[in-house]
Amino acid sequence: MVKPFVPQLVYFEPKALDYPLGKELMEKFTKLGVEIRETTSHNQVRNLPGKNDFQKYRIAKSTLVVGLRKTLKFDTSKPSAEYAIPFATGCMGHCHYCYLQTTMGSKPYIRTYVNTDDIFEAAEKYMKERAPETTRFEASCTSDIVGIDHLTHTLKRAIEFFGESKHGVLRFVTKFNHVDHLLDAKHNERTRFRFSMNADYVIKNFEPGTSSFADRIEAAGKVARAGYPLGFIIAPIYVHDGWEEGYKDLFERLESELPQEAKKDLTFELIQHRFTKPAKRVIEKNYPMTKLELDEEKRRYKWGKYGIGKYIYEKDQEASLKDTLSDYIEKYFPNAKLEYFT
Ligand code: SF4
Repeated sequence: MVKPFVPQLVYFEPKALDYPLGKELMEKFTKLGVEIRETTSHNQVRNLPGKNDFQKYRIAKSTLVVGLRKTLKFDTSKPSAEYAIPFATGCMGHCHYCYLQTTMGSKPYIRTYVNTDDIFEAAEKYMKERAPETTRFEASCTSDIVGIDHLTHTLKRAIEFFGESKHGVLRFVTKFNHVDHLLDAKHNERTRFRFSMNADYVIKNFEPGTSSFADRIEAAGKVARAGYPLGFIIAPIYVHDGWEEGYKDLFERLESELPQEAKKDLTFELIQHRFTKPAKRVIEKNYPMTKLELDEEKRRYKWGKYGIGKYIYEKDQEASLKDTLSDYIEKYFPNAKLEYFT
């Protein structure tokens, strides 16, 4: 059982203490006896303890910076939503394949933003621009937001904010089971609560520091009983010996362990494993013993944003992954919606 995250070290930007959430967090961490430091900006978070890069990386992953979100221009977030809504960045998990290896390679610490009203105001503007069309906001593009929310309750406020909104909906995904404080949020079914799931082999070998399959399923059941629309992201879909059986077993277990409520309005998103060259370098440095297969020769190159292309599976392998997993969804969850495969 993975315990709810408590940082080892917390930095506060001085302006954060002008906000109620900043003050609340200062009190909380003082009471918990966590080491607290001041920093003028997160960019100044240098000299993290640790004898070498390997140790520094691990300490950074359990360091929290409490600050303000300055950029209120949201990134797009295709295909799952129109915009990424930024409540936090970074994650305490240690998934070897994590996409944050590319986006936050040199700054792996976790940041939480206390000026949530500014973020909500920006979201309101984006909704107005598209109204009466619905605008979807994805809250987990830059972190596993559920993993730190027991400390901040920012996600809970966001769920209630979108619960009241006319033209906006919220989505996020997690690998953590610490969801209890979110169960009584007034979501009005405008938040889709998703869990990231995978074949046993992938969870065991590549997802240290996150909740187990059994704990995630149990949390998914609670979330469904609380009336949230539920979803699963199967990612990264990863070719390994016996992958067909491994993924079949995943769907069988989901089917047998989920309560009936969870099956009423269920979505699946399928994302094949991919990596970029910069991510490969970071992964090999931070997880030198990883079994993760990162051989460009076995993959197909796909052009990506900012000139950083990614390596995905060869066409025939990709088709086989897509067909096999789509068939399982149809067999075990005939009423569910498969939103995309990418
Ligand atoms: Fe990355 Fe998600 Fe794993 Fe956190 S839980 S390390 S965000 S893949």
